[in-house]
Amino acid sequence: MSSMKNETLSATLSAIAPPANVELDPIQRQLQMLLLKRLQKEDEEEEAKRESARRLQLEGAKAMVARQKAEEENQLYCDHRKENGQSAIVGQRDHQHHTHYLCLHCNKHWLDRELPDALMPKGEHIGGPNV
Ligand SMILES: [Zn+2]
Repeated sequence: MSSMKNETLSATLSAIAPPANVELDPIQRQLQMLLLKRLQKEDEEEEAKRESARRLQLEGAKAMVARQKAEEENQLYCDHRKENGQSAIVGQRDHQHHTHYLCLHCNKHWLDRELPDALMPKGEHIGGPNV
């Protein structure tokens, strides 16, 4: 994208550049310098904006990876149990006859038989349509 902008800039500059054998009067020369400076400044500003957007995107991606890693680590050390020792997991049946289980502490998700029996919540903690 930057190179495209640079091509546009250089095309504009060569279009407004006087032939080598033409003498410009001081005012024309001054105008040309002003225009050139303005185009260069615009180009630099656009590049700075693009760079800033790229940096934000990269920081956002890094933060997301860090959050995922923290969540995975949290899930690794979570015993998925309440203080009273009962399962901290709730279930939700869907219309495709699957049951989704979710730990209320760490947000870990299990589908159907992925959930170990020992962690199975009581029936009243599983919502959704009965099958
Ligand atoms: Zn958990």
